[in-house]
Amino acid sequence: MNTQLSKNFSFLEMTITENRKFLSQNRQAPEKLVESGVQLCQTLLQPIRDHYGKPLVVHSGYRCPALNKAIGGSVTSQHCKFEACDFHIIETPLTEIFDWIRLKSNLKWGQLILEGWSMGHPSWIHISLGEPYREPSKCQQVMTFDGKKYQSI
Ligand SMILES: [Zn+2]
Repeated sequence: MNTQLSKNFSFLEMTITENRKFLSQNRQAPEKLVESGVQLCQTLLQPIRDHYGKPLVVHSGYRCPALNKAIGGSVTSQHCKFEACDFHIIETPLTEIFDWIRLKSNLKWGQLILEGWSMGHPSWIHISLGEPYREPSKCQQVMTFDGKKYQSI
């Protein structure tokens, strides 16, 4: 099954994982969560893709509980609810994308995090759905991760 969740984002792409052991299990995302995935793609990822006119490389979208546990993800992670995505865009500095989203895009996110620090550079952007998926007080949060701790901006 490869449903399109929005114009440029497919179910297979949003359930990908490098952790092959969990790939087929991860693709059995419950139907009720796929609806959140549609919102994630249509209201956040697609507008970013349209702005840059380049594909987003998805590192991780939905994570089934077993996969999330295996990679040491937070038990409250929005990835487990199909409400978050980690991505980068080829040939585009992550800081540029991060700044465009937080300062100019007018998108309504829950958390926006520049994270996955490796060799002195961030590796991806994490973005998640905001209201009504998160409480209003926990929306439009912006953070960076320097390899050790999260820092709010
Ligand atoms: Zn993430």
